[in-house]
Amino acid sequence: MSLFQTFAMLDWSGGNDTGPTPRKDAIWACIVRNGKALDPEYLRNRQIAEQRLDALIRAELKAGRRLLLGFDFPFGYPCGFARAMTGTDDPLALWDWFDQHVEDSPKANNRFDLAGRINLQFGGRGPFWMNGLRRDIDGLPRTKSDYSNPFPNRRAVETLAKGSFTCWQMAGAGAVGGQVMMGLPVLNRLRHRFAEQISVWPFEPLDKPVSFVEIWPSLTLGAPPEGRIKDDWQVEQVALTLSGLTEQELDAQLNVSAAEEGWILGVPQDKPNITPPPLRNDCFALPAGVNWTPVDEALACLRDRLHPITASETMALTKACGRVLAGDVVARRSNPPQPNTAVDGYGFAGPALDGPQIMPLIEGRAAAGIPFDGDVPEGRALRVLTGAALPAGVDTVILEEDVTVKNGHIAFHGPLKKGANTRRAGEDVTAGDIALPAGRRLTPADLALLSAVGIAEVDVRKPLRVAVVSTGDELLEAGESAGPGQIFDANRPMLLSLIDRMGFVPVDMGRVSDDRDALRDRLDQAAEQADVILTSGGASAGDEDHVSALLRQAGAMQHWRIALKPGRPLALGLWSGVPVFGLPGNPVAAMVCTLIFARPALGLMSGEGWAEPQGFEVPAAFEKRKKPGRREYLRARMRDGRAEVFHSEGSGRISGLSWAEGLVEIEDGARHVKPGDMVRFLPYGSFGL
Ligand code: AMP
Ligand code: MG
Repeated sequence: MSLFQTFAMLDWSGGNDTGPTPRKDAIWACIVRNGKALDPEYLRNRQIAEQRLDALIRAELKAGRRLLLGFDFPFGYPCGFARAMTGTDDPLALWDWFDQHVEDSPKANNRFDLAGRINLQFGGRGPFWMNGLRRDIDGLPRTKSDYSNPFPNRRAVETLAKGSFTCWQMAGAGAVGGQVMMGLPVLNRLRHRFAEQISVWPFEPLDKPVSFVEIWPSLTLGAPPEGRIKDDWQVEQVALTLSGLTEQELDAQLNVSAAEEGWILGVPQDKPNITPPPLRNDCFALPAGVNWTPVDEALACLRDRLHPITASETMALTKACGRVLAGDVVARRSNPPQPNTAVDGYGFAGPALDGPQIMPLIEGRAAAGIPFDGDVPEGRALRVLTGAALPAGVDTVILEEDVTVKNGHIAFHGPLKKGANTRRAGEDVTAGDIALPAGRRLTPADLALLSAVGIAEVDVRKPLRVAVVSTGDELLEAGESAGPGQIFDANRPMLLSLIDRMGFVPVDMGRVSDDRDALRDRLDQAAEQADVILTSGGASAGDEDHVSALLRQAGAMQHWRIALKPGRPLALGLWSGVPVFGLPGNPVAAMVCTLIFARPALGLMSGEGWAEPQGFEVPAAFEKRKKPGRREYLRARMRDGRAEVFHSEGSGRISGLSWAEGLVEIEDGARHVKPGDMVRFLPYGSFGL
């Protein structure tokens, strides 16, 4: 059974009565009942349309048919407007507001005057624009030359729907501003008249027999066939299309969240990378025939073959610090949203002023959040406080410290440039710009930026879960009593906290002895619980190297013989489709391999993109001779502007890892470093630690 039996679509109009003969730019309606389209109806004015809708709703209710009623105008305004007008974010409160303030009859309505009146509340230069009447209207600009909008220009859905008009534009071909204003009161009356029978999408659950939805026929429909009026053809097409959808298809279209602004039915809500594709079996294959792969080639290989493997989810911005953006975030609102004053002082209209100045003050003031309601006439000044929107007539501010105030006048000395001490609307970020790109790992500062541009929710990647397993018969947990030949597991605590510091989710899979079956079970469990597995130990090609043996059996294993010191072969492979980084057992090598190979690979798989560590060329405080053939990473730290290295290069010296604050990277070729020579220092911090 379909969700609805009757579909009625209306093409609305903001203008006056269009006369008895059917024509375009009027109101058109088409009903499809149980799959059959009735002839489109021409409705010459809104009063007739309202009566017709009333009758239709009554008839469908009586017959027990569920009715989906579509209208081609926005059900909400860009965010912030409802609150500014009504004190709440509830769009239906704004419907009530318009219902109370709109005057409408077949011959005349007050839409332009009302737009002007609203604009005056915000300084008289926006949000509405374009006066379609001959007479001038206070507060409603004819053009956009001096336009300033305290709200976003577009609703979120309009940034996805190319070619849409904003609901701020009141006149001109295609403008919808008048239609919204003149349409909402009609819908509001119906909504109250049939209070228990009508739901408004997407603000209310669709649990009533009648649902109002917003449609936009021109988004998908082109020109009508020869001889048909566009509006009449479009409503018929939309009604037929919607009635032809399966219940699931329609349900999917109706499943959007757009609490305040409303949404256009059929525009997909941005849900990037719902399920990313799995990695390919050969993703760790290295070029054939090469004995020792240079570090850069190995890295290029990982960079080419790996891709993000985490799904995305939507969450409140306030909870999203440290998460990775799944898509670009577009600024909903400019920062600053309107021109404002950068200081406490006095505002006026200023051509460049020079020499001594005296100006009468006008009554009142403008403060942050409390705009001045009125014009500041030429030659007069107004008290303004930091952050206050510049009132109409003000474009320049003089600092209060530079002014003497006496007898209702201010006196100061030029020169003062036009625009001084003010901030331009959008000088920081303009609405519609990409505020932050996909892949960004959100910082506290990013939360400030996104909040300022009106973002309350973000699409982010689920965090990458990284399992850590230690292997080796000799390993014990620190604190246990150790017998001969036993050592404490040093890698696991290190790796788990490296994962955590890098912004991934560590999953502790414990220790396994050198037993193939036990290791197989543990890898199975890890593959269930994590997106990536890091093992340490057993990664070479010896008898007890079970990690490599198992991965090889699984078929998707590569031994990476990388020309790198410290570091023995790495074993990379897929276990049940989950990538495994088989790290060397040696703690020094395990950490270096994690920083140099695992870190950028994990970043890429987490959706962050490939991150090169930031290195610095600094003078060496040491001497070292090195043969060609492999790249070396020395445990190092900066003291007195020079890089020192640990006194021993022994790969078992864990104290050196802890002593160090970063790595010095010495290139693949031969090198004789002398004190004072420049070397590349990579602080641990540049690996995200
Ligand atoms: P393997 O790669 O298993 O041959 O191990 C190389 C060296 O690293 C051996 O000396 C191991 O005892 C040591 N080792 C392996 N795993 C750990 C660990 N989790 N903590 C400390 N040392 C380890
Ligand atoms: Mg071992």
